[in-house]
Amino acid sequence: MKRIGHWLDGEEVAGTSGKSGPVYDPAVGHVQAQVAFASLDEVDAAVASAARAGKSWSQSSLSRRAEILFKFRELLDHHKADLAKVLTSEHGKVLSDAMGEISRGLENVEFACGIPHLLKGEYSEQAATGVDVYSIHQPLGVVAGITPFNFPAMVPIWMLANAIACGNTFVLKPSEKDPSSSLFLARLLKQAGLPDGVLNVINGDKLVVDRLIEHPEVRALSFVGSTPIAKYIYENGTRQGKRVQALGGAKNHMVVLPDADVAMAADAAVSAAYGSAGERCMAISLVVAVGGVADPLVAAIEARLDRIKVGPGTEAHNEMGPLITREHRDRVASYLEGAPREGATVVRDGRQHGIPGDGFFLGVSLVDHVKPGTRMYTDEIFGPVLGVVRVDTYEAALALINSHEFGNGTAIFTRDGGAARRFQKEVDVGMVGINVPIPVPVSYYSFGGWRASLFGDHHMYGPEGVKFFTRTKVVTSRWPDPSTSKIDLGFPRNR
Ligand code: NAD
Repeated sequence: MKRIGHWLDGEEVAGTSGKSGPVYDPAVGHVQAQVAFASLDEVDAAVASAARAGKSWSQSSLSRRAEILFKFRELLDHHKADLAKVLTSEHGKVLSDAMGEISRGLENVEFACGIPHLLKGEYSEQAATGVDVYSIHQPLGVVAGITPFNFPAMVPIWMLANAIACGNTFVLKPSEKDPSSSLFLARLLKQAGLPDGVLNVINGDKLVVDRLIEHPEVRALSFVGSTPIAKYIYENGTRQGKRVQALGGAKNHMVVLPDADVAMAADAAVSAAYGSAGERCMAISLVVAVGGVADPLVAAIEARLDRIKVGPGTEAHNEMGPLITREHRDRVASYLEGAPREGATVVRDGRQHGIPGDGFFLGVSLVDHVKPGTRMYTDEIFGPVLGVVRVDTYEAALALINSHEFGNGTAIFTRDGGAARRFQKEVDVGMVGINVPIPVPVSYYSFGGWRASLFGDHHMYGPEGVKFFTRTKVVTSRWPDPSTSKIDLGFPRNR
């Protein structure tokens, strides 16, 4: 059986702890590899390697860092089809989704290539007579990232591109469910010229994460995953005096007003709910239909469901692959079992999908008349299940969104600019789409939700990513006028 190790000091090494976990091929339901779970000593070795490398990396010129990132960008683009295969094989998402994930990651590398511009400070000449004040942005030191299974290439890139561009060294703890893409990225970065130790990848479970939280040399923790773990990392990391950004779960509502283009809204709901089998933190999981749009909208969504081809992600005609594990698939399916008891109507039940074999498949599912307050409404299901809530007014839709535990993303579909403008102002959610169902910000903005979707003060990537991975120093300097110098510097005397 294939064994997946760690990336330490610029090379792949086998684990030494004797502990490992299974990596599945979700499309067939079999274990395809074992990933090493690091011991405390191995975590310490990764942090020590990063600390050593940081001594020179933090002093490297901005143009050198940019040059390496430009090369990395070219290599990533060149090898994206190979990386997509790795993603599909361990995560299950279809190849087109995997390619889309890599493209969004590439954007973040392109942003980080601009690091000479991004690290410019401010300068105030003559704040007082002969006194100038200016700011400089310096790296934090060793920083760590802990990432989820659902975007095993893009989320590590969200973090590492800016972290290393800012002069930090980075220790990455990927999801143990699909760890190979992180090692793939590490190999490309080495090829691009990244010095050994600037990036270390350490695989494992809670033991590794807890050591990173408590390790005195780790200055900051960047986390993306579920809300309970995000809260845990935030609370424990900040208690240790670390800077922490911890992005959590989501339950994204898409409001459809009575004037919306029903076909456009239905297309958007279908792609946003079922893409990547709904395992996206920006997936639409609830449509909130306002007034009379509900019946035609539900009919239009249902009419589109038969066209979605579900099957192994490696087959080009498929549009939706399996879920990540059998347990997760069964958990998602349990919401379909429970929906009628909660007063909802199962319009399409994905448990009847007819796909042969042991893969972790669930077909597309649509549940109408979801009632606020039920599990189907409140929980993050994280699968291909779209719920529809029916309300009478815009105010009722807004109140639902603003009182939900999560505030990651949301969208409104309408032809009325005034209604959209009111929504963007009044909704308490971090990322808002107007006739755009998945408003993931482009890389030169930053990504982050509100309430239980983000713990910490900084959003991820973009300008806020640069802020997160640097600390600012303000210098106040006084230089007397050279004409007053005791030594004759050649300036006209002016005493
Ligand atoms: P998860 O929270 O189970 O795992 C995330 C990481 O935390 C993994 O590396 C895992 O090994 C580690 N971890 C798990 N349990 C831990 C524990 N008890 N102590 C310490 N570390 C632990 O999340 P997941 O299932 O891999 O990913 C799906 C979740 O991530 C969903 O909730 C999704 O909404 C969320 N997510 C959020 C965003 C966002 O930007 N807000 C993006 C992607 C995914």
